[in-house]
Amino acid sequence: MNFLSEEQRMWKEQVDRLMEREIGREYIRQCDVSREYPYKGYEVIARQEWLRLLIPEDHGGMGGTIFDYALLCEGLARYSFDFATAFMVSTFTAMNIVKFGSAAQKERYLEPFMRGDIRFSISISEPHAGSDAASTRTRGIADGQGFLLRGQKLWCSGASARNVVIAMLVRTDTGAKKHHGLSVFLVPNDTPGLDIRRLPTMARRATGTTEIFVDDARVTRDQLLGELGKGWEIITDHLELERIAVSAGYVGNAQQAVDDALRYAHERIQFDKPIFDFQVIRHMLADMQTKVDAARLLVYRAADMASRGLACSREVSMGKLFASETLQEVTRCGMQIMGGHGMLPESDMERYFREGMQSTIGAGTSQIQRTIIAKSMRAA
Ligand SMILES: Cc1cc2nc3c(=O)[nH]c(=O)nc-3n(C[C@H](O)[C@H](O)[C@H](O)COP(=O)(O)OP(=O)(O)OC[C@H]3O[C@@H](n4cnc5c(N)ncnc54)[C@H](O)[C@@H]3O)c2cc1C
Repeated sequence: MNFLSEEQRMWKEQVDRLMEREIGREYIRQCDVSREYPYKGYEVIARQEWLRLLIPEDHGGMGGTIFDYALLCEGLARYSFDFATAFMVSTFTAMNIVKFGSAAQKERYLEPFMRGDIRFSISISEPHAGSDAASTRTRGIADGQGFLLRGQKLWCSGASARNVVIAMLVRTDTGAKKHHGLSVFLVPNDTPGLDIRRLPTMARRATGTTEIFVDDARVTRDQLLGELGKGWEIITDHLELERIAVSAGYVGNAQQAVDDALRYAHERIQFDKPIFDFQVIRHMLADMQTKVDAARLLVYRAADMASRGLACSREVSMGKLFASETLQEVTRCGMQIMGGHGMLPESDMERYFREGMQSTIGAGTSQIQRTIIAKSMRAA
């Protein structure tokens, strides 16, 4: 992508170098196979001070743009979108504290987060609240000086790791209209009353995703993020950065899938020649690379617009839609090119493929992205 500035190109190369030298694909594969949270990889990123990216300088961060952040997400997701999720969930949730947190919450959470001592998860979904995310049933019941949280959350990624603070969406006013009466609380994952269980999912095996049984978990008023009853505004604001981050991650993982399939096609000899020599395989690879480039362009456009503070929910949804479907498609083709060898963990392709399958669901399904795009279209 030669339209990146020299600085951006160097930043991308720096991320790639770190992935290669200090994290590596074997470590990431091992975390996936053993379903272990990638603590070591997370620490490497924290040591680089990359958790400070996006956080404003007056809060101890290094500033930087959403575009810089997207380039980082692209690089970290290279060997597994799941691995990058550990970092991304934490960072885009931290930005909610930057935007909506009180002075005391910023003081309490931001520096420990940037050092890598605590991390964040976001808990919106519930058994009955998927795409229809505002149909939250988990309650926040006023009780004395604070609230009692009661209900069940689902798919909260990274929540079972060490020292996690969960930004949890709950209903604090049952009399208000559906999108009103929702609030977000910052809830440490060791709060009494939380029972957090990792789910045996097909994808996201390292960072892990969880169900949370919430049984009268007590929170104080100073754990409320933003204003009471304004939770939906926080969540909708949050989704833009989340979708840019994950889309950039899909592009990074998809590019690696193409690179791995291409290398394999050159190395694998059948009928006395590399399978790359069969036109059907070559053309498959050409289509795969073309789609990854197109996805990257859409995601960079969205990241660039967001960096410049422009309204871009349509462009963000286009990037999310196309990049996730591209990851799914190129990994399915990658599996075909690798034949039986693709089925083994050592190929890495089966992991990319599993991540591709979840990419069109997490952070808003493809159907929801199409609905957002269609809503923005006006008849000429
Ligand atoms: C691996 C993974 C990690 C996740 N991590 C998190 C997390 O950290 N925090 C969190 O809060 N959530 C998380 N989620 C939840 C995710 O956001 C939801 O799965 C997603 O929003 C879809 O909800 P659902 O799975 O209940 O599907 P449903 O909403 O039940 O959808 C089922 C099907 O119906 C379609 N559909 C639904 N409504 C419409 C409509 N209006 N128009 C057209 N089609 C429609 C969907 O597109 C889908 O195909 C995660 C999910 C996964 C799979």
